[in-house]
Amino acid sequence: MNEDIRAKWKKFEDDCRSCNACPLSKTRTNVVISRGAKDASLMLIGEAPGHDEDIKGLPFVGRSGQLLQNLLAAYGFKEKDYHICNIVKCRPPENRRPEQVEIATCKKLLAQQFALVKPKVIVLLGSTAYEAFFGDKPVMRDVRGAFREVKGYQIMTTYHPAFALRNDKMKIPIYEDMGKVRKKLEEMGLIETLDK
Ligand code: SF4
Repeated sequence: MNEDIRAKWKKFEDDCRSCNACPLSKTRTNVVISRGAKDASLMLIGEAPGHDEDIKGLPFVGRSGQLLQNLLAAYGFKEKDYHICNIVKCRPPENRRPEQVEIATCKKLLAQQFALVKPKVIVLLGSTAYEAFFGDKPVMRDVRGAFREVKGYQIMTTYHPAFALRNDKMKIPIYEDMGKVRKKLEEMGLIETLDK
């Protein structure tokens, strides 16, 4: 990463950490920005930080994050291969779903994050992330697992791993979808071919 990009990241992260643009700033412990590579071809986007993420200031570090990590690792993904974040960067109280105004406000920061990471393949984890991107409420079983090309990005939606913690058999479709993501990155020449 060159000095210019490093400086842009620092400014972006400072702006996030001092952000008071929506009401979630009043109840958060930490602003949760990202985990993984800052220049990854693959970006995974969830809904919002939970309790563990709020305490640690990192996304997907609780039980659902561990599950996601295991499902990704099953296809050879390491943390250097992806950038992971959420639609909103501050924890909603009681883990409620973020409200529209909070999502709309925080999307301005997400747009800056996109411009810095420059991903090629995007995975939306759960219906809130889908709705924030596409504007309509999805029927998850209908939209999951298929790539959609938008403005040059390959975008796939899958279930949020927290859903699979409540319903064990939902691990299977998420696992399958991670396999499709690996295949897409390989086809695009963005990751080495996995010997399986
Ligand atoms: S959720 Fe996003 S917009 Fe709201 S205070 Fe946190 S960083 Fe700012």
